[in-house]
Amino acid sequence: MKRGTSRSDFSVARRRMVADQIKGAGVTDDTVLAAMRDVPRHLFVPTGLRHRAYHGCALPIGYEQTISQPFIVGLMTALLELQGDEHVLEVGTGSGYQAAVLSHLARSVVSVERVEPLALRSARMLDELGYDNVEVYAADGGTGVPERGPYDAVAVTACPRRLPSLLFHQLREGGTLVLPIGEGEEQILYRYRKRGGEAIVERSVPCRFVPMLDGLVGSTENA
Ligand code: SAH
Repeated sequence: MKRGTSRSDFSVARRRMVADQIKGAGVTDDTVLAAMRDVPRHLFVPTGLRHRAYHGCALPIGYEQTISQPFIVGLMTALLELQGDEHVLEVGTGSGYQAAVLSHLARSVVSVERVEPLALRSARMLDELGYDNVEVYAADGGTGVPERGPYDAVAVTACPRRLPSLLFHQLREGGTLVLPIGEGEEQILYRYRKRGGEAIVERSVPCRFVPMLDGLVGSTENA
């Protein structure tokens, strides 16, 4: 993209991203596609990387973290099969982009991020853009946010080595949890559904997320 690209050019890039990288790659849920056509992904990446915001890759957002690639955001969101009235938990706010996508498709979103400065920055951006059904918490989300649960759906965007049982506990009966599990390059995306208190597990695709880590990283520490 050239310098001085106007705002409207991003909407063209965004439509192309959805057509080629999301729909073209097999995510066909219309509500997900519409949400991703709407959310200004370039505002969730560092200013110097805006020209790459609609490329099909993850991008650095500081603190050694990344905004997920568009396809994975679309796929995870579609796997949740949201109908519009769910209370959703996202673990790993990062840039806030996926929280914004989820906010279009659910009644309310609680998103938790362990790197406090990222949580603060995302909360501010989501607020400025008017996503008023999203609440961001700065905390270790590996144990969920029990005080705001139970949840109809949970999306985990950092990779644990095994299913964090407390997240499954905070899922309502009939609810859906989507998360990567694994280590390093060996990660698989899974969907868990809670039926009669038991987990019904489906394997989705190989994926690559940052690891889920313990503890809160405060604003005055180096992440
Ligand atoms: N959904 C994000 C993707 C961010 S990458 C987006 O749309 O941009 C994953 C994020 O998970 C990172 O910001 C990382 O700091 C965070 N994370 C890792 N372990 C965590 C934990 N235990 N609790 C909360 N957040 C965690």
